[in-house]
Formats: sequence, C-alpha cells, structure tokens
Amino acid sequence: MKEYDVIIVGAGPGGSTAAKEAAEKGLRTIFFERGRKPGEKNSSGCGLGPRMWRDFDIMKELTPEKCPSMREGAAARNYFVNNDGDVSGYIMTKPTDSVTYEPARSWITMNCYRSEFDPWIAKFATAAGAELKTSTLVTGLLKERNRVIGVIDEHGEKYRGFVIGADGAVSMVARESGLRERWKQQQVTIIPQYDFQCSPSKIDDIMGDEALAVWWSAIFPASYQVFFHDGFHIGLGNWMTWWDKNPLYYLNKVVNLEYFQRLARILEGKPREFHAHLLPWQGGPHDTHTDNVILIGDAGGFPCPLEAEGIYPAMVTGRAAIETAAQALSAGDTSKNFLDLYDRKWMASSVGEEFKTGPELASIWRALPFSPHATMSWFVPMLMELIGGIIDWSEPHAVRVRQIARRMKRYLPQAIPFIMKEVIPLLTAILGEEKMNLLTDPGKLMATMPEVEEAIALAFMESDKEERKN
Ligand SMILES: Cc1cc2nc3c(=O)[nH]c(=O)nc-3n(C[C@H](O)[C@H](O)[C@H](O)COP(=O)(O)OP(=O)(O)OC[C@H]3O[C@@H](n4cnc5c(N)ncnc54)[C@H](O)[C@@H]3O)c2cc1C
Repeated sequence: MKEYDVIIVGAGPGGSTAAKEAAEKGLRTIFFERGRKPGEKNSSGCGLGPRMWRDFDIMKELTPEKCPSMREGAAARNYFVNNDGDVSGYIMTKPTDSVTYEPARSWITMNCYRSEFDPWIAKFATAAGAELKTSTLVTGLLKERNRVIGVIDEHGEKYRGFVIGADGAVSMVARESGLRERWKQQQVTIIPQYDFQCSPSKIDDIMGDEALAVWWSAIFPASYQVFFHDGFHIGLGNWMTWWDKNPLYYLNKVVNLEYFQRLARILEGKPREFHAHLLPWQGGPHDTHTDNVILIGDAGGFPCPLEAEGIYPAMVTGRAAIETAAQALSAGDTSKNFLDLYDRKWMASSVGEEFKTGPELASIWRALPFSPHATMSWFVPMLMELIGGIIDWSEPHAVRVRQIARRMKRYLPQAIPFIMKEVIPLLTAILGEEKMNLLTDPGKLMATMPEVEEAIALAFMESDKEERKN
C-alpha cells in the first residue's frame, strides 16, 4: 500500500487547487484523474469571474498564449423570448458604477475552454510537488473498522491517506464514504450544450465586447451562450424533476429560433461538439465531511445557489479543505468533529456569504427563468410591456402610458403572489427582517394607500374613457 498525507480524487479546478495548496504545505500529495489529462472532456463551465483574480494569484498568469480559447468580455446580452417563440426584446448590460472591485469594472467573465484551463491549473500542483496520476479511475474507498483510510484504483492499487473528494457531480467519494447517496432529483440539474466553432475575427466584429448571452424564455428553460476566442457554447438545463421531454427537445428550440439561426449564420458557426453534464444546484451544502474525508466543489454541492458558478467555489473549498486537513494531520486528529473546522472556513469565505441567502436565491431562480411555462409566460410579456411599450408612435404618449398601465393590471394576479412568495423572502434574507419591516411597515403603507388607490383609479377611469372614444 502506498502512503500519502493527502489523496485527492479528481483533477478539476477544485482537485488541482487542493493539490497545489497541499504540496506547498509540504504534504505528500497525490491527485487522480480518470481522463488522459485534466479537462479531457472539455466539459461545461468556462466563464471565469473576477473574484478568481482577486483571490487566487495564479490567475494573473493566465494568458492567451497559455489558454488560446480565452476571451475577455465586458457585456452580457439578455434576450427575451415570448410564448410565440419570438425574441420580443433584449437588454445589453455592462458592469455598473456600484462595482467596487476595480478589475470587475471593465470585464465580467474571462471565458476559456476547460480542455485548456484544467491542464493549466493542474500544472501549478505538479510544479509544487504533487503527484498527478492520469488515466486512473479511483473505484472505491479503503476502510478500517468502518472508517475511511484511503482509496483503491481500477488496477487494484491501494493508497493510504487523508481523502479529498474532488470528483465532481457524480462523486464516488461522497457515496462510498456514506455522506450521501446520489443527489436527489431536486438537487441536481442536467445541462446539454452544443459547441460551435467560428472564426475569431467574426466573433470580435459581430459580438464586440460581449462575453455571454442569456436567453430568458417562455418556451424553454433559461439558456446561456458563452463566447470564446474561436467559438461559442449554447446550452440549457433544469432540475431533474422538471423535464417532461428529453432536454435536447428544449435545447433544439433555442437553436431553431429564427434569431439564433441568423446569429449563427452571420458568425458562420459550425457545430463542433455536443456535451451533457450534471450540475448540483441547491440552496446550501451539507454533510461535507466525515472521519478522514472532505468533499469539495461539485462533489460537496458548492456551485453558487443563484447562477451555479462552480469553478470559484471549487477552488475556495479546495483551499479551505487543505488548510483544515493540514491542521488535522498535525493535531493527529482527522475525526469528523475536528473537521467541522472545514465548514467554519468555507462559511467564512465569499462562498459561505453567498449561501447565507442560498435557499431564497435558489428558490427564486427555480421559480423564474427555470419555470418557462408557469412564470416566464407572463413575466416576459409583462417586462417587455414595461420597458418597450412606450416605443410606439401610433398614439400620443399619454394614451400609451394608460394603455400600458391597463395591460400591466392584467399581470397583477400572477405577479403579486410571485412577489409575495419569492421576492419578499429574498429581500428579507438580504436586508434583514428589521429593515424589511420598515419597508413594508403596515402603518406607513396604509397612510399612503388611499392616495395610491386614488391615483390608480383616476388613471384607469381616464384610460377607460379613452378606450370608449376609440
Ligand atoms: C454546462 C455547464 C456550464 C457551466 N458553466 C460554468 C461557468 O461558466 N462558470 C463556472 O464557474 N462554473 C460553471 N459550471 C460549473 C462548473 O463546471 C463546476 O462547478 C466545476 O467544474 C466544479 O469543479 P470540480 O473541480 O468540483 O469538479 P469537476 O470540474 O467536475 O472535476 C472533477 C474531475 O474529477 C474527475 N473524476 C471524477 N471521478 C473520478 C474518479 N472516480 N477517479 C478519477 N477521477 C475522477 C473528472 O474526470 C473531472 O476531471 C458549469 C457547469 C455546467 C455543467
């Protein structure tokens, strides 16, 4: 049996960060990758956010020479697709004045293929002295008196040491250690995506500084498009409980939109690869460790509860896991009790801050862009009415405002319960109950209510008259 201080299963961003941190602390470290190299599958996640540059020095060394697919983008486009499958409007957004982290004022994501990013990040671990074993599937955990003591690989080779589960969404370490069974259907999403190849100059000319697009829709769950130096991904997902048809049926709805087809044509996009992945997406991680075992990244359920950004949380939890393991090893105590320290560490980080409002964020997201038929079917026309209705030269503007107000009234029976059920709890979680009570103070509300009611009644009386005239 081979002996190590730390054994890491998986060489994704989480595993490689953990391996680097462990080797730098002088711990004898091995990390395993079932692929021929890290990132072999060019899977999924590829938008890297600014906090990675703020919190991980290695990111400053990521250049287009090392990662040729890299593309920096400052803008995000939000398309709104209505019940008829038409793009009824779009909004382009850029970082705003309230952003305080200076680099984040000029770009929102740096996009690069995982087939380039994962091997790049793994090199920092091997340079620090960690041993990388590729083309090796770790098939099980070694146990002594029911306690995990190491791992066994597909060739029957045994390794003894502290175990970090960095093995992604379908984590063997999580299951074999008894931390959990498979994810429940409501905790995990499935995401198919197409990768298109385009010429870099076309992308630059046509997309300019756009990094990504989100397709908010009444006919399919929210879809994302990420632009790289020489291509783009288009994908969509939803929780396993949602699908009434094969996910590809919905992804093809995006691809078949007239608007998307036109964009693909002018970009001269050619389909290159198809991927489908699982991604845990939940309000809060739990059962993250047991005796001699810690789960990080997707294995521990750490993707952001709102947008499922998962690379940064994988790296943050990788670092927190190694700090914990190092303390546990030097104290000679790797019991679950000692490892509770891991939870305290990640909870004190930016990842933990995100999960403080995790249940509310996950809930509103699930109920909005991922409920196309139930919510987006009224939300998209309501939003378009609100922001686009005034762009009309068929009537005087005052008449248009009244027409818009009348139309908005129709959405209230759906919008008000949504606000009460999803928005108020989220605002309460963010602002705290005390401040929310001030905002929704019944006394103050009641004092202004008669005036508001009178104004609304007057507006509708006016527009009724207008309509009768026409
Ligand atoms: C479609 C999609 C789009 C996404 N977009 C983004 C995005 O834009 N930005 C972002 O930050 N996040 C994104 N994410 C999330 C992100 O991809 C993950 O959260 C992130 O990869 C998690 O990193 P990890 O190291 O925990 O696990 P992974 O990246 O899943 O790495 C696990 C590694 O372990 C290996 N492995 C697994 N089991 C074994 C085993 N038994 N033995 C040996 N090796 C094993 C795997 O081959 C893999 O290399 C996206 C996810 C999906 C599915």
